Amino acid sequence: MANADIIKLHDGNLMPQLGLGVWQASNEQVVGAITKALEVGYRSIDTAAAYHNEEGVGRALKQSALPRDALFITTKLWNDDQQHPADALQRSLEKLGLDYVDLWLMHWPVPAKAHYVDAWKGMIALQQQGLVKSIGVCNFNIDHLQKIMDETGVRPVINQIELHPYLQQRQLQVWNATHQIQTESWSPLARAGEGIFEQKLIHRLAEKYRKTPAQIVIRWHLDNGLVVIPKSVTPARIEENFNVWDFRLDKEELALFAGLDCGKRLGPDPERFGA
Ligand code: NDP
Repeated sequence: MANADIIKLHDGNLMPQLGLGVWQASNEQVVGAITKALEVGYRSIDTAAAYHNEEGVGRALKQSALPRDALFITTKLWNDDQQHPADALQRSLEKLGLDYVDLWLMHWPVPAKAHYVDAWKGMIALQQQGLVKSIGVCNFNIDHLQKIMDETGVRPVINQIELHPYLQQRQLQVWNATHQIQTESWSPLARAGEGIFEQKLIHRLAEKYRKTPAQIVIRWHLDNGLVVIPKSVTPARIEENFNVWDFRLDKEELALFAGLDCGKRLGPDPERFGA
């Protein structure tokens, strides 16, 4: 199977465009899932302190024969730790068994608590110490992004947001791109719910390309220039979700997806979450 396409972040670091998400997977489950994923060619893993599975991620990485610099590991600063980022990162690194992470993301802005600018300053300092290669955010709206950039002059490399055919976040995608902030899609398969795989358009394309509906949706993210991290703990699906390098959707097909965008959120609204 081919390698994932690689994108360049604005700080010059490289990141695989397709990785494995591990939210809602136990320590035991992630060991098996990551071992399978590395075997079929994934090199990027997206975890978070709040997923309570960093130890399992660490165990899987330790068992792998791959060199550290072949891997791209993302973890996240949880909301309750925004005032203590250094301690939180230390705990994550210990659980992961790593000296550094490739990408560290602030998990939510939690605007009601108003700590996110200070948290961002702390993340910048830890990057300067070499404990993380790249820093970014999740679930930031334009106002939140503008504020951290105004106050620190440092742009996140990534904004990881809920993004799938039902919630395409066009305005935020364009704003991110204008500022060279890479958009990364979470819940990219709409959690395999909401009838996503039964959508007529997705079905028609699956038949045309002899692919599964999940592969069509993943290709839609890739062909839109998004970083994408579908989650699965099922070996056959982990393999299926990575087998997307032998076709592309054309411009007209990509345009048709606009008709599926109904602004439907599956997760919380970042403006209110954590208040
Ligand atoms: P996804 O959209 O990736 O969907 C995951 C679900 O789809 C699981 O139930 C999985 O089942 C199922 N699935 C996966 N592949 C297939 C397939 N080929 N066919 C049928 N079903 C399939 O949802 P997530 O919410 O997990 O999002 C992905 C990742 O994004 C997370 O794991 C996490 O890393 C990140 N994330 C980040 C957030 C943030 O705030 N920054 C918030 C939410 C997610 P099974 O595992 O049983 O195979």
